[in-house]
Amino acid sequence: MTELLNTTALVDRFGRRVRYVRLSVTDRCDFRCVYCMSEKMTFLPRDQVLTLEEIGRIASVFTSLGVEKIRLTGGEPLVRRDLMELVDYIGTLGLKDFTMTTNGSQLPRFATELKAAGLHRLNISLDSLDPEKFRRITRNGDLHKVLAGIDAAQAAGFSEIKINAVVMRGRNDDEVLALVDMVRKRGIDISFIEEMPLGNISDHGRDETFCSSDEVKAMIEQNYPLTPLQHMTGGPSKYFSMADSRSRIGFISPHSHNFCGDCNRVRVTVEGQLLLCLGNEHSVDLKPILRAYPKDNGPLRQAIISAMELKPESHHFTTDGEVQVVRFMNMTGG
Ligand code: SAM
Repeated sequence: MTELLNTTALVDRFGRRVRYVRLSVTDRCDFRCVYCMSEKMTFLPRDQVLTLEEIGRIASVFTSLGVEKIRLTGGEPLVRRDLMELVDYIGTLGLKDFTMTTNGSQLPRFATELKAAGLHRLNISLDSLDPEKFRRITRNGDLHKVLAGIDAAQAAGFSEIKINAVVMRGRNDDEVLALVDMVRKRGIDISFIEEMPLGNISDHGRDETFCSSDEVKAMIEQNYPLTPLQHMTGGPSKYFSMADSRSRIGFISPHSHNFCGDCNRVRVTVEGQLLLCLGNEHSVDLKPILRAYPKDNGPLRQAIISAMELKPESHHFTTDGEVQVVRFMNMTGG
Protein backbone atom coordinates (compact mmCIF):
# COMPACT_ATOMS: atom_id res chain seq x y z
CA MET A 1 0.00 0.00 0.00
CA THR A 2 1.50 3.36 -0.95
CA GLU A 3 0.65 6.12 1.50
CA LEU A 4 0.16 9.79 0.74
CA LEU A 5 2.92 11.78 2.44
CA ASN A 6 1.72 14.45 4.89
CA THR A 7 4.40 15.74 7.22
CA THR A 8 2.32 18.29 9.14
CA ALA A 9 -0.60 16.19 10.33
CA LEU A 10 0.92 15.05 13.59
CA VAL A 11 1.02 18.25 15.62
CA ASP A 12 -0.59 18.28 19.05
CA ARG A 13 -2.52 21.04 20.88
CA PHE A 14 0.74 22.40 22.31
CA GLY A 15 2.43 22.73 18.92
CA ARG A 16 4.69 19.72 19.42
CA ARG A 17 5.27 17.72 16.25
CA VAL A 18 5.37 13.95 16.64
CA ARG A 19 8.32 12.55 14.71
CA TYR A 20 9.17 9.52 16.78
CA VAL A 21 7.22 6.30 17.45
CA ARG A 22 8.15 3.47 19.75
CA LEU A 23 6.52 0.24 18.69
CA SER A 24 6.30 -2.57 21.20
CA VAL A 25 6.47 -5.89 19.39
CA THR A 26 5.86 -8.17 22.37
CA ASP A 27 5.09 -7.96 26.10
CA ARG A 28 7.19 -11.11 26.70
CA CYS A 29 10.75 -11.07 27.91
CA ASP A 30 13.44 -13.57 28.87
CA PHE A 31 14.38 -11.36 31.86
CA ARG A 32 12.21 -10.21 34.77
CA CYS A 33 13.93 -6.96 35.80
CA VAL A 34 12.81 -5.98 39.29
CA TYR A 35 11.89 -2.38 38.37
CA CYS A 36 10.01 -3.42 35.24
CA MET A 37 7.92 -6.47 36.09
CA SER A 38 6.58 -8.41 39.02
CA GLU A 39 8.06 -11.85 39.60
CA LYS A 40 5.03 -13.77 38.38
CA MET A 41 3.89 -12.19 35.17
CA THR A 42 0.93 -13.21 33.04
CA PHE A 43 1.56 -12.40 29.41
CA LEU A 44 -1.04 -11.57 26.78
CA PRO A 45 -2.82 -14.35 24.92
CA ARG A 46 -1.68 -14.49 21.29
CA ASP A 47 -4.97 -13.34 19.76
CA GLN A 48 -4.76 -10.05 21.66
CA VAL A 49 -1.36 -9.30 20.21
CA LEU A 50 -0.98 -7.50 16.87
CA THR A 51 0.43 -9.55 14.02
CA LEU A 52 3.76 -8.49 12.54
CA GLU A 53 1.86 -7.40 9.45
CA GLU A 54 -0.41 -5.16 11.54
CA ILE A 55 2.60 -3.60 13.26
CA GLY A 56 4.12 -3.04 9.81
CA ARG A 57 0.95 -1.23 8.68
CA ILE A 58 1.15 1.05 11.70
CA ALA A 59 4.81 1.79 10.95
CA SER A 60 4.01 2.57 7.34
CA VAL A 61 1.12 4.93 8.19
CA PHE A 62 3.17 6.79 10.80
CA THR A 63 6.01 7.19 8.30
CA SER A 64 3.58 8.63 5.75
CA LEU A 65 2.53 11.13 8.44
CA GLY A 66 6.04 12.50 8.82
CA VAL A 67 7.48 10.18 11.48
CA GLU A 68 11.22 9.94 10.89
CA LYS A 69 12.26 7.70 13.73
CA ILE A 70 10.97 4.31 14.82
CA ARG A 71 12.22 2.31 17.77
CA LEU A 72 11.26 -1.33 18.23
CA THR A 73 10.94 -2.34 21.84
CA GLY A 74 8.94 -4.55 24.19
CA GLY A 75 9.13 -6.75 26.31
CA GLU A 76 12.20 -8.11 24.62
CA PRO A 77 11.80 -7.52 20.88
CA LEU A 78 14.21 -10.28 19.90
CA VAL A 79 12.12 -13.01 21.56
CA ARG A 80 9.21 -12.34 19.18
CA ARG A 81 9.11 -15.12 16.62
CA ASP A 82 9.90 -14.06 13.02
CA LEU A 83 10.67 -10.51 14.14
CA MET A 84 13.22 -10.19 11.33
CA GLU A 85 10.33 -10.07 8.82
CA LEU A 86 9.14 -6.83 10.46
CA VAL A 87 12.65 -5.42 10.77
CA ASP A 88 13.24 -6.13 7.07
CA TYR A 89 9.99 -4.36 6.16
CA ILE A 90 10.55 -1.27 8.35
CA GLY A 91 14.08 -1.10 6.97
CA THR A 92 12.53 -0.29 3.55
CA LEU A 93 10.46 2.68 4.79
CA GLY A 94 13.28 5.22 4.38
CA LEU A 95 13.42 6.34 8.02
CA LYS A 96 16.10 8.77 9.16
CA ASP A 97 16.54 6.72 12.30
CA PHE A 98 15.56 3.10 12.88
CA THR A 99 16.55 1.70 16.26
CA MET A 100 15.85 -1.04 18.77
CA THR A 101 15.98 -1.33 22.54
CA THR A 102 17.03 -4.79 23.63
CA ASN A 103 18.40 -6.56 26.66
CA GLY A 104 21.13 -7.92 24.37
CA SER A 105 20.74 -11.57 25.29
CA GLN A 106 19.74 -12.60 21.74
CA LEU A 107 22.18 -10.34 19.90
CA PRO A 108 24.82 -13.06 19.34
CA ARG A 109 22.18 -14.69 17.12
CA PHE A 110 20.63 -11.63 15.46
CA ALA A 111 23.15 -8.74 15.35
CA THR A 112 24.37 -9.40 11.80
CA GLU A 113 20.86 -9.80 10.39
CA LEU A 114 19.69 -6.63 12.13
CA LYS A 115 22.52 -4.66 10.61
CA ALA A 116 21.84 -6.09 7.15
CA ALA A 117 18.13 -5.20 7.47
CA GLY A 118 19.03 -1.53 7.89
CA LEU A 119 18.68 -1.03 11.63
CA HIS A 120 20.80 2.04 12.37
CA ARG A 121 21.37 1.95 16.12
CA LEU A 122 20.98 -0.25 19.17
CA ASN A 123 20.19 0.57 22.79
CA ILE A 124 21.25 -2.27 25.04
CA SER A 125 20.03 -2.36 28.63
CA LEU A 126 22.64 -3.28 31.22
CA ASP A 127 22.44 -2.29 34.87
CA SER A 128 25.33 -4.22 36.42
CA LEU A 129 28.69 -5.72 35.50
CA ASP A 130 28.67 -8.08 38.44
CA PRO A 131 27.16 -11.46 37.41
CA GLU A 132 25.48 -12.00 40.81
CA LYS A 133 24.00 -8.52 41.01
CA PHE A 134 22.97 -8.74 37.37
CA ARG A 135 21.07 -11.93 38.13
CA ARG A 136 19.41 -10.32 41.16
CA ILE A 137 18.24 -7.31 39.15
CA THR A 138 17.07 -9.31 36.12
CA ARG A 139 15.90 -12.21 38.35
CA ASN A 140 17.21 -14.75 35.83
CA GLY A 141 19.54 -13.02 33.37
CA ASP A 142 23.03 -14.16 32.43
CA LEU A 143 25.47 -11.24 32.26
CA HIS A 144 27.83 -13.12 29.97
CA LYS A 145 25.16 -13.48 27.29
CA VAL A 146 24.59 -9.72 27.33
CA LEU A 147 28.30 -8.94 27.13
CA ALA A 148 28.56 -11.41 24.23
CA GLY A 149 25.59 -9.58 22.69
CA ILE A 150 27.42 -6.24 22.87
CA ASP A 151 30.49 -7.89 21.32
CA ALA A 152 28.31 -9.30 18.53
CA ALA A 153 26.71 -5.90 17.84
CA GLN A 154 30.13 -4.24 17.62
CA ALA A 155 31.45 -7.03 15.40
CA ALA A 156 28.40 -6.69 13.12
CA GLY A 157 29.40 -3.08 12.49
CA PHE A 158 26.93 -1.15 14.63
CA SER A 159 28.82 2.06 15.24
CA GLU A 160 26.14 3.66 17.39
CA ILE A 161 25.46 1.57 20.46
CA LYS A 162 24.14 3.00 23.69
CA ILE A 163 23.90 1.24 27.02
CA ASN A 164 20.83 2.05 29.14
CA ALA A 165 21.27 1.65 32.88
CA VAL A 166 18.57 2.23 35.48
CA VAL A 167 20.32 3.35 38.67
CA MET A 168 18.89 2.14 41.98
CA ARG A 169 20.20 3.19 45.35
CA GLY A 170 21.63 0.26 47.27
CA ARG A 171 21.40 -2.02 44.23
CA ASN A 172 23.76 -0.80 41.55
CA ASP A 173 24.59 2.84 42.38
CA ASP A 174 28.08 1.67 43.33
CA GLU A 175 28.62 0.54 39.73
CA VAL A 176 28.15 3.86 37.96
CA LEU A 177 31.88 4.40 37.43
CA ALA A 178 32.46 0.78 36.38
CA LEU A 179 29.76 1.16 33.73
CA VAL A 180 31.33 4.41 32.52
CA ASP A 181 34.73 2.71 32.30
CA MET A 182 33.20 -0.14 30.30
CA VAL A 183 31.66 2.19 27.68
CA ARG A 184 34.88 4.20 27.46
CA LYS A 185 36.82 1.03 26.69
CA ARG A 186 34.35 0.00 24.02
CA GLY A 187 33.91 3.48 22.52
CA ILE A 188 30.12 3.36 22.95
CA ASP A 189 27.62 5.63 24.78
CA ILE A 190 25.61 5.22 27.96
CA SER A 191 22.45 6.75 29.41
CA PHE A 192 21.64 6.58 33.08
CA ILE A 193 17.90 6.41 33.73
CA GLU A 194 15.89 7.45 36.79
CA GLU A 195 13.50 4.68 37.77
CA MET A 196 9.91 5.50 36.84
CA PRO A 197 6.78 4.50 38.77
CA LEU A 198 5.23 2.32 36.07
CA GLY A 199 3.32 -0.71 37.32
CA ASN A 200 2.96 -2.14 40.80
CA ILE A 201 6.21 -3.98 41.44
CA SER A 202 6.82 -6.32 44.36
CA ASP A 203 10.60 -6.16 44.75
CA HIS A 204 11.14 -2.77 46.36
CA GLY A 205 9.51 0.53 47.20
CA ARG A 206 10.47 2.91 44.41
CA ASP A 207 11.07 5.65 47.00
CA GLU A 208 13.80 3.53 48.69
CA THR A 209 15.83 3.06 45.54
CA PHE A 210 15.38 6.42 43.80
CA CYS A 211 18.69 7.90 42.72
CA SER A 212 18.56 11.21 40.85
CA SER A 213 20.49 11.98 37.67
CA ASP A 214 22.23 14.81 39.54
CA GLU A 215 23.62 12.30 42.06
CA VAL A 216 24.80 10.00 39.29
CA LYS A 217 26.39 12.89 37.44
CA ALA A 218 28.25 13.93 40.61
CA MET A 219 29.62 10.38 40.98
CA ILE A 220 30.95 10.41 37.42
CA GLU A 221 32.46 13.86 37.80
CA GLN A 222 34.67 12.58 40.62
CA ASN A 223 36.69 10.92 37.84
CA TYR A 224 35.59 12.52 34.59
CA PRO A 225 34.45 16.15 34.33
CA LEU A 226 31.44 16.37 32.02
CA THR A 227 30.77 19.02 29.39
CA PRO A 228 27.19 19.51 28.13
CA LEU A 229 26.67 18.57 24.48
CA GLN A 230 24.14 19.79 21.96
CA HIS A 231 23.90 16.23 20.61
CA MET A 232 20.26 15.16 20.29
CA THR A 233 19.01 11.76 19.21
CA GLY A 234 15.39 12.88 19.20
CA GLY A 235 14.93 11.08 22.52
CA PRO A 236 14.76 12.29 26.12
CA SER A 237 18.48 11.91 27.03
CA LYS A 238 20.57 15.00 27.87
CA TYR A 239 24.16 14.33 26.77
CA PHE A 240 27.61 15.18 28.10
CA SER A 241 31.11 14.52 26.83
CA MET A 242 34.35 13.63 28.60
CA ALA A 243 37.59 15.35 27.54
CA ASP A 244 39.51 12.16 26.75
CA SER A 245 36.88 9.83 25.27
CA ARG A 246 34.47 9.65 22.36
CA SER A 247 31.85 8.04 24.60
CA ARG A 248 28.89 10.22 25.48
CA ILE A 249 27.11 10.11 28.81
CA GLY A 250 23.35 10.69 28.80
CA PHE A 251 20.84 11.21 31.57
CA ILE A 252 17.15 10.37 31.28
CA SER A 253 15.54 12.20 34.15
CA PRO A 254 11.75 11.91 34.09
CA HIS A 255 11.58 13.02 37.73
CA SER A 256 14.23 15.64 38.20
CA HIS A 257 14.28 17.28 34.76
CA ASN A 258 10.88 16.78 33.25
CA PHE A 259 11.33 16.29 29.50
CA CYS A 260 7.77 16.92 28.34
CA GLY A 261 8.20 20.40 26.79
CA ASP A 262 9.87 19.09 23.67
CA CYS A 263 8.25 15.64 23.64
CA ASN A 264 8.06 14.40 20.05
CA ARG A 265 7.09 10.81 20.84
CA VAL A 266 4.18 8.44 21.00
CA ARG A 267 4.10 4.71 21.66
CA VAL A 268 2.06 1.79 20.40
CA THR A 269 1.68 -1.25 22.62
CA VAL A 270 1.66 -4.74 21.17
CA GLU A 271 -2.12 -4.78 21.73
CA GLY A 272 -2.43 -1.77 19.46
CA GLN A 273 -3.00 0.92 22.10
CA LEU A 274 -1.61 4.20 20.85
CA LEU A 275 -0.23 5.83 24.01
CA LEU A 276 0.12 9.57 23.81
CA CYS A 277 2.28 9.87 26.96
CA LEU A 278 4.54 7.52 28.91
CA GLY A 279 3.26 8.80 32.25
CA ASN A 280 -0.47 9.13 31.53
CA GLU A 281 -3.23 6.77 30.47
CA HIS A 282 -4.39 8.78 27.41
CA SER A 283 -4.69 6.30 24.55
CA VAL A 284 -6.55 5.21 21.43
CA ASP A 285 -7.19 1.57 20.54
CA LEU A 286 -5.93 0.98 17.00
CA LYS A 287 -6.56 -2.78 16.93
CA PRO A 288 -10.31 -2.69 16.12
CA ILE A 289 -9.57 -0.24 13.29
CA LEU A 290 -6.76 -2.39 11.89
CA ARG A 291 -8.99 -5.46 11.98
CA ALA A 292 -12.15 -3.79 10.65
CA TYR A 293 -10.24 -2.41 7.63
CA PRO A 294 -7.60 -5.00 6.76
CA LYS A 295 -7.04 -3.61 3.26
CA ASP A 296 -7.61 0.11 3.83
CA ASN A 297 -5.20 2.22 5.87
CA GLY A 298 -7.39 5.36 5.58
CA PRO A 299 -9.32 4.88 8.86
CA LEU A 300 -6.09 4.01 10.71
CA ARG A 301 -4.45 7.14 9.38
CA GLN A 302 -7.43 9.28 10.45
CA ALA A 303 -7.47 7.72 13.94
CA ILE A 304 -3.78 8.51 14.41
CA ILE A 305 -4.23 12.11 13.26
CA SER A 306 -7.24 12.62 15.57
CA ALA A 307 -5.35 11.11 18.51
CA MET A 308 -2.97 14.08 18.54
CA GLU A 309 -5.74 16.07 20.26
CA LEU A 310 -5.37 13.76 23.26
CA LYS A 311 -1.64 14.18 23.86
CA PRO A 312 -1.35 15.66 27.37
CA GLU A 313 0.97 18.52 28.14
CA SER A 314 3.11 16.59 30.63
CA HIS A 315 3.43 13.71 33.04
CA HIS A 316 3.74 14.17 36.80
CA PHE A 317 5.83 11.40 38.29
CA THR A 318 6.46 11.52 42.03
CA THR A 319 9.22 9.67 43.86
CA ASP A 320 7.07 8.71 46.84
CA GLY A 321 6.53 5.27 45.39
CA GLU A 322 2.96 5.98 44.41
CA VAL A 323 1.94 4.26 41.17
CA GLN A 324 0.32 6.66 38.75
CA VAL A 325 0.31 4.41 35.74
CA VAL A 326 -0.67 0.80 36.30
CA ARG A 327 0.90 -0.50 33.08
CA PHE A 328 4.24 -2.22 33.57
CA MET A 329 7.07 -0.97 31.38
CA ASN A 330 7.05 -4.25 29.41
CA MET A 331 3.50 -3.35 28.29
CA THR A 332 4.28 0.28 27.61
CA GLY A 333 7.39 -0.42 25.57
CA GLY A 334 10.51 1.24 26.99
N1 SAM B 1 13.74 -5.73 26.79
C1 SAM B 1 14.31 -4.54 26.23
C2 SAM B 1 15.39 -3.99 27.15
O1 SAM B 1 15.66 -4.60 28.18
O2 SAM B 1 15.98 -2.98 26.80
C3 SAM B 1 13.33 -3.46 25.85
C4 SAM B 1 12.21 -3.16 26.80
S1 SAM B 1 12.67 -2.43 28.34
C5 SAM B 1 11.06 -2.19 29.03
C6 SAM B 1 13.22 -0.84 27.84
C7 SAM B 1 13.94 -0.01 28.84
O3 SAM B 1 13.05 0.39 29.85
C8 SAM B 1 15.10 -0.70 29.51
O4 SAM B 1 16.26 0.07 29.36
C9 SAM B 1 14.68 -0.76 30.96
O5 SAM B 1 15.78 -0.66 31.79
C10 SAM B 1 13.77 0.43 31.06
N2 SAM B 1 12.80 0.35 32.16
C11 SAM B 1 11.93 -0.62 32.44
N3 SAM B 1 11.17 -0.31 33.52
C12 SAM B 1 11.59 0.90 33.93
C13 SAM B 1 11.21 1.78 35.00
N4 SAM B 1 10.24 1.46 35.84
N5 SAM B 1 11.85 2.95 35.11
C14 SAM B 1 12.85 3.29 34.24
N6 SAM B 1 13.24 2.51 33.22
C15 SAM B 1 12.63 1.34 33.07
